[in-house]
Amino acid sequence: MRELSYVAPRDLNEAIEALLKFKGRAKVVAGGTNFIPDMRSGAVAPGAIIDLSKLRDLSYIKEKNGIVSIGALATMSEIATSEVIRNQSPILSLAARRLGNPLTRNRATVGGNLAHASPAADTAPPLLAMEASVRIRGGSGGSREIPLDQFFRGPNQTVLEEDEIITEITFAKKEDPTRSSHFKLGLRNAMAISVVTIAVMLEMDGKVCRKARVALGAVAPNPIRAYRVEGLLAGKEIDSGTIDACAAAVRDEISPISDIRASAEYRKTVTLVLLQRAIREALA
Ligand SMILES: Cc1cc2nc3c(=O)[nH]c(=O)nc-3n(C[C@H](O)[C@H](O)[C@H](O)COP(=O)(O)OP(=O)(O)OC[C@H]3O[C@@H](n4cnc5c(N)ncnc54)[C@H](O)[C@@H]3O)c2cc1C
Repeated sequence: MRELSYVAPRDLNEAIEALLKFKGRAKVVAGGTNFIPDMRSGAVAPGAIIDLSKLRDLSYIKEKNGIVSIGALATMSEIATSEVIRNQSPILSLAARRLGNPLTRNRATVGGNLAHASPAADTAPPLLAMEASVRIRGGSGGSREIPLDQFFRGPNQTVLEEDEIITEITFAKKEDPTRSSHFKLGLRNAMAISVVTIAVMLEMDGKVCRKARVALGAVAPNPIRAYRVEGLLAGKEIDSGTIDACAAAVRDEISPISDIRASAEYRKTVTLVLLQRAIREALA
């Protein structure tokens, strides 16, 4: 039988030591809601499990000097009920509330959601729209910060090295976080993996849109920013013509696949419709 080691570090330093000790053979586990099914199905077969669940000091959510910081071990339930997140990013609050079911939300962490890097990872679009960054600690002791839009490399692929873990996600406070919207379309209203997700965040000078950030999930190999759409919104008084132009442009920015949940063509069509609604809602 294959040997499997199990370590449950009590702090970040112990976790880093374990990563060094089992370098190349270990998998970290946070809530286990992706990892356990993957291990059962044989999709992952590590030689060692480093269980991060005791690192409760990495589950903070705070705001200081205009920066919102979320520890990688913060769960969806903690994010969904956080006053800081509700005030500073209603779209992230909504996304956390819409992920899975209550049992899953009590275990599922934001670090695990991003590291698993599903194209449909539900915290990714709102965090991309907030221009979030990911703080990473390496087994060799180094620390680096990377903008979330440079973190994903494809389905279930990220820039994380095998001896690195996510410790924190941060974003700068926005002037008016309510100028935003979040849409998740699944096959059911609850407990559904996304067919399409959209998060929109606008910064306005009166009626003129100074800056727009539009992020999409489940319509490309990884969650993406729709930079062409953002360019069409910035510097404009947004009217129906602008919104129609955005809908036309987004078709070229996405590359959905057909899978058990929806066809590529359905995803394309529904993205255009939801994007128009999402821009209108963010403006309202
Ligand atoms: C019933 C059910 C419903 C679900 N519904 C949804 C849904 O609607 N939307 C959605 O997006 N997801 C959904 N999921 C998937 C899952 O719950 C989320 O992706 C969750 O956020 C993963 O977090 P976790 O802490 O459980 O990760 P884990 O399973 O512990 O880990 C997932 C991956 O991330 C890595 N990892 C974890 N933490 C870190 C870290 N700090 N640093 C580096 N790597 C790390 C692990 O090595 C592993 O590869 C669902 C899962 C289930 C079982």
